[in-house]
Amino acid sequence: MSGNAVRLQAIQDVEAYVPPAVSFDVNEAPGAIYGMNVFNKAVMQRRLPKNVYKSVIDTIENGSKLDPTVADAVAAAMRDWALEKGATHYAHVFYPLTGFTAEKHDSFFEPVGDGTTLAEFAGKTLIQGEPDASSFPNGGLRATFEARGYTGWDVTSPAYILESPNGNTLCIPTVFLSMTGEALDLKTPLLRAQQAMSVQAERVLRLFGNDPDRVVSFCGPEQEYFLIDRHFFLARPDLLNAGRTLFGQKPPKGQEFDDHYFGAIPERVLGMMMEAERELFKLGIPAKTRHNEVAPGQFEIAPVFERANIAADHQQQLMTTLKTVAQRHGMECIFHEKPFAGVNGSGKHVNFSIGNGRQGNLLNPGDNPHDNAQFLVFCAAVIRAVHKYGGLLRVAVASASNDHRLGANEAPPAIISIFLGEQLADVFEQIAAGGAKSSKSKGTLRVGVDTMPDLPADPGDRNRTSPFAFTGNRFEFRAPGSNQSVAAPMTVINAMLAEALDFIANELEASIAKGVEFNAAIQDVLAKIMKEHGAVVFNGNGYSDEWQVEAAKRGLLNLRTTVDALPQLIEPASIELMEKYGIFSAREMHSRYEIALEQYVNSIAVEAKLTLEMGTTMVLPAAIRYQTELAANIAALKAAGIDGNATSLKSVTAIVNELTDALTALQGVLAADAGHELTDEAKFALTTIIPAMGAVRAAGDKLETVVADDLWSLPTYQEMLHIL
Ligand code: ADP
Ligand code: MG
Repeated sequence: MSGNAVRLQAIQDVEAYVPPAVSFDVNEAPGAIYGMNVFNKAVMQRRLPKNVYKSVIDTIENGSKLDPTVADAVAAAMRDWALEKGATHYAHVFYPLTGFTAEKHDSFFEPVGDGTTLAEFAGKTLIQGEPDASSFPNGGLRATFEARGYTGWDVTSPAYILESPNGNTLCIPTVFLSMTGEALDLKTPLLRAQQAMSVQAERVLRLFGNDPDRVVSFCGPEQEYFLIDRHFFLARPDLLNAGRTLFGQKPPKGQEFDDHYFGAIPERVLGMMMEAERELFKLGIPAKTRHNEVAPGQFEIAPVFERANIAADHQQQLMTTLKTVAQRHGMECIFHEKPFAGVNGSGKHVNFSIGNGRQGNLLNPGDNPHDNAQFLVFCAAVIRAVHKYGGLLRVAVASASNDHRLGANEAPPAIISIFLGEQLADVFEQIAAGGAKSSKSKGTLRVGVDTMPDLPADPGDRNRTSPFAFTGNRFEFRAPGSNQSVAAPMTVINAMLAEALDFIANELEASIAKGVEFNAAIQDVLAKIMKEHGAVVFNGNGYSDEWQVEAAKRGLLNLRTTVDALPQLIEPASIELMEKYGIFSAREMHSRYEIALEQYVNSIAVEAKLTLEMGTTMVLPAAIRYQTELAANIAALKAAGIDGNATSLKSVTAIVNELTDALTALQGVLAADAGHELTDEAKFALTTIIPAMGAVRAAGDKLETVVADDLWSLPTYQEMLHIL
């Protein structure tokens, strides 16, 4: 059998692929299925006793503590609803620090002794679960003798039914804590941070004469992903095990023609997207836009924004749903930040705003001086926050896989700066220049008196090179990776806003106490913030080399790799922020630091072992066979009395030697002593293992361009990206 049999078979299988029959009524209006599998407010209102319903809603809307006595009533209603929906099991769903979704399934049915079973689901089972938590990362928070953690019902996120071919499951979103109350998940800190932000935002709103209700943060994540045929996926051990290709030449036709972006969506992909959207609709996840992305085989889906904690849960469900439905359609959905070297990577833009029902979106400029002033204050809070805690924002999106993206010429740089747009930047400059005492002269703007110039809502020509951009009525944080949860960035955003709003409220209160007029007090605090933190505002090209130099001059951090970024988690300023607002204890921050280091080290180790294995068993053998073929050819020519030219053989041999040396070196590096501390191991991975892998890949990729195609077993970039 020839070396490329796997590839040829894969291509044949793709050719012969027949899409699955449509499994639903295409005429059914999406509205009819929206939220049908969600235990949402409407269902609760119908099924819960009035006082129970009111108590639960109070917890959801106002964050008040859950009254434990209502749990039994809610559990009973939830169970009945779930049984009617065909559920046989229930599961506490949580988001451990692996970044994945974890579920522990239990049956509703318990034997009752007379040979029958009864569907049981008590309030205490709803409120608390005890998964065997010893195998989830905890960064030393749980000593082995106390390996238990527990899951606690997150009332703010609705329960839902997960459908699967062999039965349905009632899923209960939960938080995951250690027995001593420390957070072991991504959601707990987000809930704590939103609470902290709300308290401070309400203080500021009250100073503006409002009677605010609870302020929440909203998040609209844009998810980029790749789709490739599963036949190719299964023939690539690297994609299968590491989520990205560790070998592979850039395709001759890449994204240089720009013909994929917003181009027609291939029919097969469209079929998959429609089915995925239906599934998301059933779960009450408002999937909205879909389009092709820059790279061939790359796509995007963006649900409508929701409360950050709900958006975070929904985002995880969305990723699971896309993966499942893609497989139903014979495709693999890839969320890695850089699955194909040299091809555009995938991000997850986190659009966010803060607001409430009464005062609306606080990042909306408004159209009168009063609203403008309030907007400018909240906007200034973002400026201060991003400048002061840029390091924390950077670390919230740090991972081995996102390192391939940040700083390359496609994603924002690792330097965290803010883009305000020309007009808004100008407004802030005028304020900074004017201060409180200036009267209105040309080029100054008096807060609370003058109306701001109209800011383009959602400007079309907006800067795409900035990691943190104002886009008309929200900010867009573009650094998060496609595979990451939005919970960590939203936690940091809320935490740092809590601090900035606290600062602003204190300043305003102090000025007012001194008898300063309110608008003058605002002008003062805005000018002060611009003076101290204006350096973070940058409207230019974030991809340029000049920016790297300029940013350094401005004293902005440039943490290029995860290894550079992670220590930000244990910086005294970071810990102080998180402790002050009750979001993380110092212990929790240290544990997260350890877990992140460990994950970094492990993921590089997996890639290195895979590189060694694939290089040795797939790439090298193909090259050697080809080398032998060439040598046999020369010998045959010589025997026939023809003077064969050995150029090909010589160049193949040179690369084979290069590969062999690189493999030996990588093997040596993997066996070497990387030190005993996790920090040493992480540094070793960055400075020694990654370059050693790179050398193997470089030789392997050169061979791909010279070895006879019929000997090459790995599906090529061209095949994976262009055959769908
Ligand atoms: P882009 O032009 O950046 O690709 P998309 O339409 O793909 O924009 O996605 C924009 C995202 O921003 C959507 O998820 C949308 O719901 C979200 N969004 C819009 N307004 C707000 C807001 N006020 N707060 C938070 N997110 C928002
Ligand atoms: Mg966007």
